Amino acid sequence: MRETKTACCYCGVGCGVIVESDGERITGVRGDPQHPANFGRLCSKGSTLHLTANPVLQQQVRALHPELRTARGAPRAPAAWGETLDFIARRFVSTIREHGPDSVGFYISGQLLTEDYYVFNKLAKGLIGTNNIDTNSRLCMSSAVAGYKQTLGADAPPVCYEDIDHADLIFIAGSNMAYAHPVLYRRVEEARRRNPSLRMIVADPRRTDTARDADLFLPILPGTDVALFNGMLHVCLWEGLVDTAYIDAHTEGFAELKRTVRDYTPAYVAELCGIGEDDLIRAARWFGQAKAALSFYCQGLNQSSSGTAKNAALINLHLATRQIGKPGAGPFSLTGQPNAMGGREVGGLSNLLSAHRDMADSQHRAEVARLWGVESVPATPGKTAIEMFEAVRRGEIRILWIVCTNPAQSLPAQRMVREALEKAELVIVQEAYRTTATVAYADVVLPATTWGEKEGTVTNSERRITRVNAVLPGPGQARHDWEIAVDFARRLETMLERTGTLFPYTTTEQIWNEHRESTRGRDLDITGLSYRILEQQGPQQWPFPEGAAQGRKRLYEDGVYPTASGRARFVDTAYQPVAEPVDARYPLRLTTGRLRDQWHGMSRTGTVAQLFSHAPEPSVAMARVDMERRLIADGDLVHVTSRRGSQILPAFAGDDMRAGQAFIAMHWGEEYLSGRNGGFGVNALTLPALCPASKQPELKHAAVKILKA
Ligand code: SF4
Repeated sequence: MRETKTACCYCGVGCGVIVESDGERITGVRGDPQHPANFGRLCSKGSTLHLTANPVLQQQVRALHPELRTARGAPRAPAAWGETLDFIARRFVSTIREHGPDSVGFYISGQLLTEDYYVFNKLAKGLIGTNNIDTNSRLCMSSAVAGYKQTLGADAPPVCYEDIDHADLIFIAGSNMAYAHPVLYRRVEEARRRNPSLRMIVADPRRTDTARDADLFLPILPGTDVALFNGMLHVCLWEGLVDTAYIDAHTEGFAELKRTVRDYTPAYVAELCGIGEDDLIRAARWFGQAKAALSFYCQGLNQSSSGTAKNAALINLHLATRQIGKPGAGPFSLTGQPNAMGGREVGGLSNLLSAHRDMADSQHRAEVARLWGVESVPATPGKTAIEMFEAVRRGEIRILWIVCTNPAQSLPAQRMVREALEKAELVIVQEAYRTTATVAYADVVLPATTWGEKEGTVTNSERRITRVNAVLPGPGQARHDWEIAVDFARRLETMLERTGTLFPYTTTEQIWNEHRESTRGRDLDITGLSYRILEQQGPQQWPFPEGAAQGRKRLYEDGVYPTASGRARFVDTAYQPVAEPVDARYPLRLTTGRLRDQWHGMSRTGTVAQLFSHAPEPSVAMARVDMERRLIADGDLVHVTSRRGSQILPAFAGDDMRAGQAFIAMHWGEEYLSGRNGGFGVNALTLPALCPASKQPELKHAAVKILKA
């Protein structure tokens, strides 16, 4: 029996896990009592991780060897690694020579480890010379990134989990934290048990399990968050709850914002949000009067056509009331994916560069080019997730390399996405699971290792880096994601007649050390950290510069922000309605979200029978009154139809639902629908409207009609 410390591979809480193995198979998992993210706790998903590593199951669901087809329409056949990577490299070279570097694109994943991310980013931007590399973090955290940068100057959550213990107000907006970040929510519950005066406000269109626990629940209409936050600021201004001295000393832009929020009177906001005026005023008073107010938020804010404005409006509220830079106070973006933070650190989005550098900044581009040893890094931002698939469909991007993600289920506007995959000249899918909807479109399948088999690092929501360790080798011919990228890159270098290599790595530590050096002097400086420190002293928060004894728990305690002026910036945010308002033909507001026991597209959690006991099949939740009006009884099949598609699902009345709304979980995709609904999940209904600043799609809202089938 052997025990190995690593991290859970599901959500951004980043729990530490101790894995038991007998040398041939993983036999059990338990929470790591020493890991500061979870102190031994695991949720239903984390505590069943070992079941996903069952060797019999592996043979059924895992990609075990490379597969290749040289012509569309032909079946894929097993192939050797060398033959497969040579084939891809030749296609890259000919396509780039004929059509330029922007004719290829990479769509990668917040599930990747930081080292994987780093190599793919360098491969695209450094070797090939295209910024066409984006990730499914675009669907998850890009509005949070843009919101932090616009207001605080850097993509850095300024708080830590320990702040839960110092807060006297917790404000949860757009997150069913009890389901989506359960272990962290347990910490909130414990803090409330210890401190009965700790209040909790929840703003959410649904009365979720999190909302049921709230001292004050604000059941806002979908998409009205900016109005709510502006309305709260209006009340704080009116009642003298803003900190004028802090605003004068440490911020800029308040006068413009003040002019805007003047119009957000309680009566106007209450009407717009569909909540009581008294409740809005109470929420503002609790927030403004709190000694320390801590906000948690997630996809309800981010997955929106005004996602950045929602983030910025909430941060405005924190800045104006000085609920930041002190214990227990600050805005806290809950990271959806396990390593969306690590990906952002290495610049793994199409508009970012390594170590939080900006692509638009010529000095930053020059710094990265120098670090990588290349002449230059391209200046034109690459295509973001949805834009990338639209460019593939138009024929502008000809080769698409998809790594560790399932866009044929997870992106909105599924018909467009699938048309793009059919139109592409070459689709490469690098995956651990051969069961995903996207694999069906692959010309090349590259089998990858996954949790329990690979090693490197991840960063969780509180900026804490954890060392990830392998327990067993991967099955079949699966290889590590970074190794595949390095092997390919060297072949490409040879074919391009490049002398030397930009990818000399033989271990993840070499990659991580290069990444570490790229952070020197940056806001996320980790030059004082090493694999050895992470292994001997446990997970650490950044920044952790050379000479530091430990990482920094909390940012901006000195009131100095990483902007040109050193001041935080208020962003003048005006409320914009959802991209697709309801009307007479599509009268119901559809929201989407997570269930407690499933994760994303279920390629992993869907292999564990007990995780279906909470919700065995997809369904649509409606308000009882809406069902009765349509003569629908619990369990009846209904057509849920938007302007883009239709789904047939059983309907159930949910006491969490307001009249006029419907809810469908995001998890079920093609492999679980057995051909029903044309193999499409809920994203057959959602629309590709993007936030103009973050380019994050509005996955959280669509106008639908529901009729009995
Ligand atoms: Fe894993 Fe998140 Fe559950 Fe922790 S809370 S065990 S990281 S899924």
